[in-house]
Amino acid sequence: MKTLILSTEKVSLGEISKKAAAVFASGGLAAFPTETVYGLGGNGLSEASAAKIYAAKGRPSDNPLILHIGYRDQLPALVEEIPDKAKILMDHFWPGPLTIIFRKSALVPFKTSGGLDTVAVRMPVHPVAQAILRESRLPIAAPSANLSGRPSTTRASHVIEDLDGRVDLIIDDGEVPIGIESTIIDLSVPEPVLLRYGYVKLSEMEELIGPIRVDPAIRAENIISHTGAVDHPKAPGMKYRHYAPKAPLYIVSGEEEDILSKIRCLADKTAGILTFDEHLKVFPEGMCVSVGSIENPEEAAHRLFDALRQFDSLDADRIYAEDMTRHDIGGAIMNRLLKAAGGNVIQAGDDPENKL
Ligand code: AMP
Ligand code: MG
Repeated sequence: MKTLILSTEKVSLGEISKKAAAVFASGGLAAFPTETVYGLGGNGLSEASAAKIYAAKGRPSDNPLILHIGYRDQLPALVEEIPDKAKILMDHFWPGPLTIIFRKSALVPFKTSGGLDTVAVRMPVHPVAQAILRESRLPIAAPSANLSGRPSTTRASHVIEDLDGRVDLIIDDGEVPIGIESTIIDLSVPEPVLLRYGYVKLSEMEELIGPIRVDPAIRAENIISHTGAVDHPKAPGMKYRHYAPKAPLYIVSGEEEDILSKIRCLADKTAGILTFDEHLKVFPEGMCVSVGSIENPEEAAHRLFDALRQFDSLDADRIYAEDMTRHDIGGAIMNRLLKAAGGNVIQAGDDPENKL
């Protein structure tokens, strides 16, 4: 299929949203920017459109899709009920990078919900996403606009790399602001459960609605020991290797000094190194990719997926990544890195011979 690419620098937002709305209405697919990552959208109420999304991504169809809405008044028709805690979180974080799981109404096809009787809904704040969603007035099912298993797309160039020829329309708005996916909270059950770490922090939500349980499947220790072992995933990436660059990735964990020494021992000329600006001088030049300063975890989150894709063009045969758990948003970054690594972690500092 021929993919139309429209740039927000050249085409007005009005024209772009009309074009995207027409694509959705006719059952087609359009990739568009949101504040988190690029989304691959289709009509969320159509089984045929959901099937096309799975096919374009090469994604297994038991992985549920998030519905994106432009107006809050679209929500009641999609869900059985709106719990009080959801209202509080929506008042605070919508529009924005928070996805909420509700019990679904009959309107939402099981093809969209991945066979579950719940549905994930989000209202993005990105002006291009909002214009498209408002013009279309349909709930738009939009997973991240990458081929299944690959790092999420944070630039239009990534989307073109993965999806050119597989979708009707790609909207090019350069780089997205946040760069990691939405936080997901399940409010379809009596006790709220965090299903995915993201830009909205657990502590911020707990201040508003009280304790939130963290799904055991997204705890670091379980990603390490259970990658590939979960049968019916409730949170993203529990079942499949996710966010993966082409070369195998290893996370090197431990005290900072030990991590740096260990990577220096392990890495040769063909190995990639994922690190911070402050450590670039510690490693030989050439195959290092930095996610920015240690002092700026939000920038690290922003640059992570692009950095993972850079190793593909560098042709690294394996990649060593520094453990990045040191910060508040570090949980969200590490969660994705662990999945990209398929749970492979090398502990630095255990063996005295590894210390330089
Ligand atoms: P993506 O759109 O690629 O960021 O991934 C969307 C993710 O949202 C899916 O992989 C799901 O795991 C999660 N999700 C969507 N709907 C539900 C649901 N009803 N229950 C639990 N998780 C969901
Ligand atoms: Mg994804």
